[in-house]
Amino acid sequence: MKYISTRGQTAPMSFSDVLLMGLAPDGGLMLPESYPHIDGDTLNRWRKLSYTELAFEIMSLFATDIPADDLREIIKKTYTKQAFGSDEIIPVTKLYDNLSLLELSNGPTLAFKDVAMQFLGNAFEYVLKQKNERLTIIGATSGDTGSAAEYALRGKQNIEVFMMSPNGKMSAFQRAQMYSLDDANIHNIAVEGMFDDCQDIVKALQEDAAFKAKYSLGTVNSINWGRILAQIVYYFKGYFAATTDNSQQVSFCVPSGNFGNVCAGHIAREMGLPIARLIVATNENDVLNEFFNTGKYTPRKSSETYVTSSPSMDISKASNFERFVFLLLNKDSEQVAKLFNDVKNGQGFDLSDKLATVADRFGFVAGKSTHQDRLNTIKKVYDETQRLIDPHTADGVKVAQEVQNAGEYILVAETALPAKFEETIALAVGDVPLPRPEHTVGLENKPQYVTVVPNDAKAVAALIEQHIIAR
Ligand SMILES: *Cc1c(COP(=O)(O)O)cnc(C)c1O
Repeated sequence: MKYISTRGQTAPMSFSDVLLMGLAPDGGLMLPESYPHIDGDTLNRWRKLSYTELAFEIMSLFATDIPADDLREIIKKTYTKQAFGSDEIIPVTKLYDNLSLLELSNGPTLAFKDVAMQFLGNAFEYVLKQKNERLTIIGATSGDTGSAAEYALRGKQNIEVFMMSPNGKMSAFQRAQMYSLDDANIHNIAVEGMFDDCQDIVKALQEDAAFKAKYSLGTVNSINWGRILAQIVYYFKGYFAATTDNSQQVSFCVPSGNFGNVCAGHIAREMGLPIARLIVATNENDVLNEFFNTGKYTPRKSSETYVTSSPSMDISKASNFERFVFLLLNKDSEQVAKLFNDVKNGQGFDLSDKLATVADRFGFVAGKSTHQDRLNTIKKVYDETQRLIDPHTADGVKVAQEVQNAGEYILVAETALPAKFEETIALAVGDVPLPRPEHTVGLENKPQYVTVVPNDAKAVAALIEQHIIAR
């Protein structure tokens, strides 16, 4: 399988090459030339597989230049009971009749990003060894990406990690999780700005061709194709857990920011998985909600991004959205390039003439949840089911219940565990004991390692050079 760019100006590439890339050289996102189609017989066969076997079947369709035995090894090493708490890896748990949680958050950092990132850590190490190369990972995080990346890449051979986070904008637990790591290859950088500023710095450094080549810059942000690929697997897993045969349909509701998680669901649906609807749930930063309801995409500036109690969704420019728009526009890369150049120049775009296609052909629907909705939903679910859910998952449950049709079965993606967001949980339900995995007990008391820098790409570049030269 070959990979192409959404902007059409990059020569087709293999999986191993795409795996180590951030943005394509033409500024677009890489994606497969076409998505493979899975027939009913194959779905029947896959239904019986373990998580690792299923992951192998799906990933081997896309990672065609990695020998089968090597890919199987990488997957087996990644999806273990030790890392994810159960052999199921991604359990499905009933909340209500017709509404269950797809438990994506039982990995090392208690958030869904571990599912993809743990795979990426092992896949990177493998590919770098094959190519005899080194890689400098730069990333931007509003919380969960950064810790998931650091836990996936700590101690890995030939990889150095520089992770930018918005200074003071993450929860105490998230800060402790990232900043307490003292591995020699992990560097935490707190930028005086918002998440989008961090993301802009990453983009600026990536676009500096000389700097990028000199330090072999790579990224693990949600635009990375390997992450999307690893996420496709759990849509299949969730579907099989929720159904007994392929005539049944399931909808997924996904708390969204960068459109990474739900993009994988969209691809699973394109592959033929019987998904009825893909429900995009946003918080007050509702750029995606607006698009799916009006057809107008209006990214906002970081100064217009709210700080909310579901902070990992405080995003006003959905970096993976371009992959969907590419398909929506029938792979017209010229038009995609034009639209996203407009976005880069601070404008939005209007695809309201495509709104019916977005819903009917692609199954998308969206809703929005606010701080008060989040608190109400956490309390309601706790009172009714005795289960605590985290604020992001609460956004998902709120929107799912709001849009649910009669007889529609919805799997809500549980994107983090409540232990990460103690303060918000306490606001919702008072002082109840939060279940905490053992490896996170006492985390906040550990020493923290972080460098605060101004909101300036040059300052970050200087810091990276200084560390790499010192190595
Ligand atoms: C990253 C994250 C999201 C948003 O996922 P996207 O792929 O960026 O849409 C939602 N919830 C949590 C807890 C996250 O960490």
